[in-house]
Amino acid sequence: MSEEILAEKVLKKYEKILLIEKEETQKLINGIDEIQRKGSKNRSGDLSSYSLHQADMGTDTDESEKRVYHLNKEMEKLKELNFALKRIYEKTYGICEICGCLIQTKRLKVVPYAKFCIKCKSNEEANHRRR
Ligand SMILES: [Zn+2]
Repeated sequence: MSEEILAEKVLKKYEKILLIEKEETQKLINGIDEIQRKGSKNRSGDLSSYSLHQADMGTDTDESEKRVYHLNKEMEKLKELNFALKRIYEKTYGICEICGCLIQTKRLKVVPYAKFCIKCKSNEEANHRRR
């Protein structure tokens, strides 16, 4: 059984990675949130300067929608990061939630908050496509 849990040392390393990633994600969310708020303020007020500023980036609505999409994605990521941290503290981090095997290290390096191993993840995606 002991083989199926990542070593304390390894968990600590991923905890650090996750905390840094969480901080960056939080900053990104705050940034987008601020732009979004400024954007809506500008829209009701001085439109000309806003449009000028946004001239080469499509319409205001497009940009706003893109930001909301981006914001949602980052929020989702933040949630995943928090889950991953919780799993670190519970010592279940790095274990695939579907098959229970250890998630490949190379996968955790790319997606430190991964919940599934590569095999289960691709099965999941295949299922989604079929639906
Ligand atoms: Zn799996």
